[in-house]
Amino acid sequence: ATAAITTDNLSQLTNLIHNELGKLIDTKNFYLTLINPQTNSLNFPFFVNEIDNLSSFPDNKTLAHLIVKTKKSLLLSKKDQEELEKRGEIAGYGTRPVIWLGVPLKINNEVIGVIAVQSYKDKLAYTHEDQEVLEFISGQISMAIYRKKAEENLKEALLKAEESDRLKSAFLANMSHEIRTPMNGILGFSQLIKDTSISSEEHAKYVEIIEKSGERLLNIINDLVDISKIEAGQMDVYISKCDIHEQLQFLFTFFKPEADIKGLNLKLDPIVTKDKLNIITDREKLYAIFTNLIKNAIKYSRKGEIQFGYNIVDSRLDDLNSSSKLIIEKGIPSKMIEFYVKDTGIGIPKDRIKAIFDRFVQADIEDSNVFEGAGLGLSITQAYIEMLGGKIWVESEENKGSRFYFTLPYFKEGEKGEQINTEAIEENISSNKKTLKILIAEDEKISDAYLTAILKKINSKLYHASNGKQAIDIMKENPDIDLILMDIKMPIIGGYEATQEIRKFNKKVIIIAQTAYALAGDNAKAIKSGCNDYLPKPVDSNELINLIDKYFY
Ligand code: ADP
Repeated sequence: ATAAITTDNLSQLTNLIHNELGKLIDTKNFYLTLINPQTNSLNFPFFVNEIDNLSSFPDNKTLAHLIVKTKKSLLLSKKDQEELEKRGEIAGYGTRPVIWLGVPLKINNEVIGVIAVQSYKDKLAYTHEDQEVLEFISGQISMAIYRKKAEENLKEALLKAEESDRLKSAFLANMSHEIRTPMNGILGFSQLIKDTSISSEEHAKYVEIIEKSGERLLNIINDLVDISKIEAGQMDVYISKCDIHEQLQFLFTFFKPEADIKGLNLKLDPIVTKDKLNIITDREKLYAIFTNLIKNAIKYSRKGEIQFGYNIVDSRLDDLNSSSKLIIEKGIPSKMIEFYVKDTGIGIPKDRIKAIFDRFVQADIEDSNVFEGAGLGLSITQAYIEMLGGKIWVESEENKGSRFYFTLPYFKEGEKGEQINTEAIEENISSNKKTLKILIAEDEKISDAYLTAILKKINSKLYHASNGKQAIDIMKENPDIDLILMDIKMPIIGGYEATQEIRKFNKKVIIIAQTAYALAGDNAKAIKSGCNDYLPKPVDSNELINLIDKYFY
């Protein structure tokens, strides 16, 4: 009990338990394993062994799993263990000790883990008295571990909160800077040109600054409007024929002067010729994607070269976004275009690579004023690429440079021969999986259509309810539905209440709540009302598929 307070962390505490226990019994071979409540598997915080050197705890059917199952302590000779193995209660792993003693660690009669000691030499190393002693002190040990874990969780939550606070402050400071700087330029220089005594050159220079500032402000406003539209699901895609070569040539001509001013060598892949290379895509969006990437490459480089171009490669399912409308309509193409923009600039620190695609996030949190920008370009770029059926990723090394890659499906005009039907491929992927009956309880038509599009990817039969009452009725009529995606805010009867009602007559169906705001309270409420899990809205297609995999496959 004292150790729970005096030790700094769980590992120190388990060390101390091991030492103290060593004063009572032989702990040359000792382990302490805790249940991970999220995965229900056993974690391995402490292990000492004379013979085996396990780095992770085996998946199931160990003696510890048996203790978790029976909630009782066990003192087993080698023969007892062999007997259990024969009966299939445990599976063979590691070297069998001549005697094994394990006790459950319990809090409120719930097993939270197991401690075990074993001997490879001395059959009489542990007696029933030792078993009693260990049982007796396991309560204290459980409490100590429980407290320490709670403390560690709190520390982690605090760190997260501090990090999010830091990000918020950095964001506010940056946005304020991004809007104020051009605004000051406009207001300040407007004042100056009122002065009739300035020369005509100065006048022209000031007007240019005002224009530039206006443009910069407009860019930020455009980005803000775009990201809002994307988030609201209202960004439209206009598909038409688009000559990739012509677009890339145009981009090259457009950005060449800007690169020259910075002394950067802008290069276009020689694959881009005067011949046409037409594909079917949204040309404006492709243009915006490249503009953002090349602009960034120029912005974040001080020397060297920037090269952009493409390669046509065989489709890789992982690098295409099969829930995009374009692919749902046209199927998965056999080829895709892999575009790239490479620079020899400042690069991105490893731990920030993932974050740069987030809204309002810059790689450099500490000093985000050095480079202008609101941290929106890449989020918009990523959203556009995914809408068009592709994916984006980056390889980067600090002070060496970055290589951004993105794919787009290679759809040629009017050509269907090359395409493979999406459903055929997806059926292939999921052919060994059973057909799931899924009820989408959702009042908003767009969200329902979105979920339907995602669920097309798996073998499923879909039912639709637009309010909680309908969901209850459909469940009564179809008790064999496997899964409900339950929206929380629905008319007539809301999601929580509908879940509670359904739970009265169906305990089996998996219910996943779609919580509108990723607030901790919402999630806890969902679980309390009887949902098995929750997903924040807007639902991420990969997260949903992962959850379905977790519960059904
Ligand atoms: P912004 O450039 O407006 O800050 P972006 O969303 O375009 O926003 O980029 C987010 C962050 O990613 C940038 O702030 C920068 O830290 C990093 N980044 C983007 N492109 C590059 C690049 N080519 N080289 C180095 N860092 C980059």
